Amino acid sequence: MIVFNLMCKDCSSEFEGWFSNSKSCDTQIKQKLVECVICNSSNIEKTLSKPNVSVNKGKDKSSEKVLRELKNKIKDVKKFIEKNCDYVGDNFAYEARKIHYGKKDKKPIYGKATKEDVVELNDEGIEVASIPWVEEEN
Ligand SMILES: [Zn+2]
Repeated sequence: MIVFNLMCKDCSSEFEGWFSNSKSCDTQIKQKLVECVICNSSNIEKTLSKPNVSVNKGKDKSSEKVLRELKNKIKDVKKFIEKNCDYVGDNFAYEARKIHYGKKDKKPIYGKATKEDVVELNDEGIEVASIPWVEEEN
């Protein structure tokens, strides 16, 4: 199956159609078997198809590679943080406030916080950075 980008000549809306090949796409358009998804007009023309046809088939090596590199980068960040900051677990918001309000020495900490925690901490002028995290793979 090949996906083609189609355009309705009546309402100019663009949509995608799946065909077994380019010829069958042309034939179906000519026979007015293809209808606009918006206005049901069969006044359709083929536009340039997208270069990536098989994104959903899991064969897109480049995106897998990018994802793997991204994961490695995140792991580097994780290592750096683990080395330089104290882990406070779920008490992140509590510990961050203690440090901010001078009840504890200023030192970098990391831990888990909910989105709401992060918003509240930011409102209080406490600098918080959220980073993506990957769990160690077995
Ligand atoms: Zn249309």
